[in-house]
Amino acid sequence: MRLGDLDREFDVLVVGGGAFGCGVAREAALNGLSVALVERDDLASGTSSASSKMIHGGLRYLEHNELGLVRQALREREVLEKLAPELVLPCPFLAPVYRGGSRGMLKLRMGLWLYDLLARPARSRRRSMHSSEGLRAMEPDLNQRGLRGGGRFWDWRTYDSRMVAEIGACASRSGAVVVTRAEAGPPRGTVGRFEVDVTDRIEGGVVTVRAKSVIATVGPWSDSYRKTRDPNAKSHTRLSSGIHLVVPRITNEHAVVINARSDGRVFFVLPFFGRTLIGTTERDVTGDPRSLTVEDRDIDYLLEETNTVLADRTLSRDDVISSFIGVRTLAEDDHANPSSTSREQQVWEEPAGVVHVIGGKLTTWRLIARELLERATAAAGLTIDDGTRSRTTPIVSEGLYMPDHMPDDTTALLDLARRTHALTAEDLLRRRTPIMLTNPPKPEVIERLEAQLSEVRAQPG
Ligand SMILES: Cc1cc2nc3c(=O)[nH]c(=O)nc-3n(C[C@H](O)[C@H](O)[C@H](O)COP(=O)(O)OP(=O)(O)OC[C@H]3O[C@@H](n4cnc5c(N)ncnc54)[C@H](O)[C@@H]3O)c2cc1C
Repeated sequence: MRLGDLDREFDVLVVGGGAFGCGVAREAALNGLSVALVERDDLASGTSSASSKMIHGGLRYLEHNELGLVRQALREREVLEKLAPELVLPCPFLAPVYRGGSRGMLKLRMGLWLYDLLARPARSRRRSMHSSEGLRAMEPDLNQRGLRGGGRFWDWRTYDSRMVAEIGACASRSGAVVVTRAEAGPPRGTVGRFEVDVTDRIEGGVVTVRAKSVIATVGPWSDSYRKTRDPNAKSHTRLSSGIHLVVPRITNEHAVVINARSDGRVFFVLPFFGRTLIGTTERDVTGDPRSLTVEDRDIDYLLEETNTVLADRTLSRDDVISSFIGVRTLAEDDHANPSSTSREQQVWEEPAGVVHVIGGKLTTWRLIARELLERATAAAGLTIDDGTRSRTTPIVSEGLYMPDHMPDDTTALLDLARRTHALTAEDLLRRRTPIMLTNPPKPEVIERLEAQLSEVRAQPG
């Protein structure tokens, strides 16, 4: 689908194709509204491909008394598992407690009790407390020195960017017009009759999209996008980056919650397609998020802290198979430390009626999409259902094909590209599948795939 498909009037125009934007397009299309989504790069090319990939309540947010947020996310885990069982998978987590660490057994016991109270999980997914021997039996590679014991609980995980691409594909199947490599300029006009110039970043050319409502889901670009319309607009966001590393597998089946010894921060070691994903970090960001790169000091921090919980094994930079960086968009506040800033979303409407969001979690994309659409449709005099369609329409339409290494036969990969708006090898190997992160192919293999994809693009339809 290219720019020509945008040359008409829509009920809703969504700017930005991350988790929230694709969620809005799906929600609007399921409600029978005419909706267009324009994404400047690829679907999920922003923050939505750089998360820790957990579908979780966020155990640590309990410490900040964000009970409502935690409860909402815990319940949403189950809805998402039903909508995309191949993509949203339950995962057992271990939280080891070490002597001298910032988390004691009693605090952990209380935290897990509260987490289960809010989640009301099935019996098989309830928390349990264990001695150090019990933990060793489950994960023999855990460092035993100073280990007092720990807890076991359940959360869910996914492959974030693939989930977003599937949400986008679900939106398209339901009638949404989804166009990538299409950059939106500032909205002109007001509710009921907006106009937005959209530039084709592949072939050049501009089309003016007309829409009754405009929803901006541009993540870290929220302030800069608003300033394209009003250069004096006040900044609302605080940006904070986080990195992840992919290393050879270091646990059996569990994810592990780590309390960093140097600064008490919490981060995770997560099973990842036969490898291990480690992350994340927090660092305030200024400037364009697209120019950020993974810094050695953050790599060393994660490796050193992970080594403290490993027995008989030390990870070094040579073990890093791949890494990535992403940017959180938090509501601006007075906290010195971004870890303390709330993750709850803020949805608001500009005087002219453009609806915006900042903050929020991947886990609650469906609820955030709903809130955004409710705001926009109420203002534009459109009606939507009570959310039943969004809660019951499966996201993945057919069996999930998601290889973690480059296949010899690329037929299925090319089909995946056609179905999920992938245009380049990077779209396919980094965001529709984890191949680039788990088993990066040689440059000549990527070039071959790129050539096959340009043939696919040249085909009519
Ligand atoms: C390090 C890290 C770890 C995280 N871990 C988790 C986790 O484990 N679980 C969880 O629930 N949440 C997690 N999150 C939060 C989650 O990733 C985000 O809440 C979510 O991805 C935000 O999605 P979004 O749609 O708002 O933004 P994005 O995914 O950034 O999408 C915005 C899109 O807008 C596009 N865009 C910008 N300007 C324009 C324009 N003018 N025209 C067209 N398109 C435009 C961009 O290209 C981009 O694709 C994490 C975040 C970070 C940074």
